[in-house]
Amino acid sequence: MKGKLLLVIALILVSVVLADGKILGTVLDENDNRLTARVRFYNFQKGFLSTIYTDWDGTFEIYLSKGEYEIEVTKGSEFERKIYQLKLEDDEEIRLSITLKRLCDLTKMGWFGGDTHMHTIYSDGKQNPEELALACSAAGLSWAILTDHNTLGGKDEWLSLSNRGIITIIGEEVTTKIGHLNAMGIAKLVQWQPAQSDDDIKKIFDEIHSQDALTQINHPFDLKNPFEKLHIESYDLIEIWNGGAPPIVKGLGNGEAQQYWYKLLNEGKRIPAIAASDCHDIYSAYSLLGLLPFEIVLQILKKELPNPEFLEYVKNNEQTLRNWVKYGLFPGTPRTYVNINQVTEKSILQALKNGKSFMTNGPLLLANIDGKQPGEEVSSSQKVFIDIDVISNQPIKELRVVQAGKPVCSMVINDKEVFSCRVQIDPTEGEWVVVEVFGDYPVYAITNPIYLKANKSY
Ligand SMILES: [Zn+2]
Ligand SMILES: [Zn+2]
Repeated sequence: MKGKLLLVIALILVSVVLADGKILGTVLDENDNRLTARVRFYNFQKGFLSTIYTDWDGTFEIYLSKGEYEIEVTKGSEFERKIYQLKLEDDEEIRLSITLKRLCDLTKMGWFGGDTHMHTIYSDGKQNPEELALACSAAGLSWAILTDHNTLGGKDEWLSLSNRGIITIIGEEVTTKIGHLNAMGIAKLVQWQPAQSDDDIKKIFDEIHSQDALTQINHPFDLKNPFEKLHIESYDLIEIWNGGAPPIVKGLGNGEAQQYWYKLLNEGKRIPAIAASDCHDIYSAYSLLGLLPFEIVLQILKKELPNPEFLEYVKNNEQTLRNWVKYGLFPGTPRTYVNINQVTEKSILQALKNGKSFMTNGPLLLANIDGKQPGEEVSSSQKVFIDIDVISNQPIKELRVVQAGKPVCSMVINDKEVFSCRVQIDPTEGEWVVVEVFGDYPVYAITNPIYLKANKSY
């Protein structure tokens, strides 16, 4: 894969070296406050795609060769996505003032989006902590957990960035030969060697808990680094959605993780799920694959992700694959929103542990039964209603309500971006319920469960 990627990157560099025009921009909200944002430039004829970020003051500049470009400006789920077409001439300098409308402010309702799994140069990531924090801010995240492999090297730098409008929390991806797990909210390094046996993994969980920190099992069904000790269930959270591909596709690991999680829930184990980016590169060099001819992409995937089920799937779904690759692996793609009363590290970690959360790569998805949120329990002697609100900056195609692992309601949404609905649930049919929404692949969101208890008299 590296050879092909280097070729694409080299072509882009040549294009930049030959640059003869300049685009300068400022991103603002409707009240003229400057916003950090992510800006992507496409020229499909030239096979060009470049991702940049504004600076902390909301300004950006880029040198490009003359030509026509599509520009996409985003700031996460709560702002509109703006797309521009633009023509750049020789020696031209274009100045843009871009206003992103805020679709909603979920923080006012106690919902704060964040990412529990990201890397920097202190392990195998490409950027330093400040660059990562800027990309998190540009993705509209309120909090972010740095989890480099087996090191807290970036700790001081990361924590010092908490004055930039993001709560920065330190963690570690405890990386062993038998699986990866996150320690989140730790004060000191968790030892990872030698981890081979059940006892070794138990000791790691115990050490994390002795630091009053959270444990998260990472990419448990990853094709290369699965978590081999899932039967030791003293972890707090399970990552069912790692990186770009939502768990709706089988064969890549996330779909399998979601099915395993449903099994745990059906066994009465209330372990909340997590969606996190596992970002290693805020420019998502991987997304450049989307520019290559489909046959070459397939060849690369065959080598990198040799799973027959997945390969068969993508072979028949070129557009799906292109969408997925183009969507990229950025901080906050996907993310987990938590419901909290106080905006502190402690309350964020507690809400994650209690499953007061939903997971998304775009759509905002709120669900409650009589005011009870995900992570809470409803006890009723009769049928209940689940109230659902969706706000999305991309069209939604379908909504599904899943009870005890089975879909109990499925609705076609017809490309709406904002809608509410109410679905009746029978608590005797199963002890937990989640809601999912689907847009054009890979747009997806899912809640953590609201638990149901059927009153005996019913
Ligand atoms: Zn990992
Ligand atoms: Zn990782």
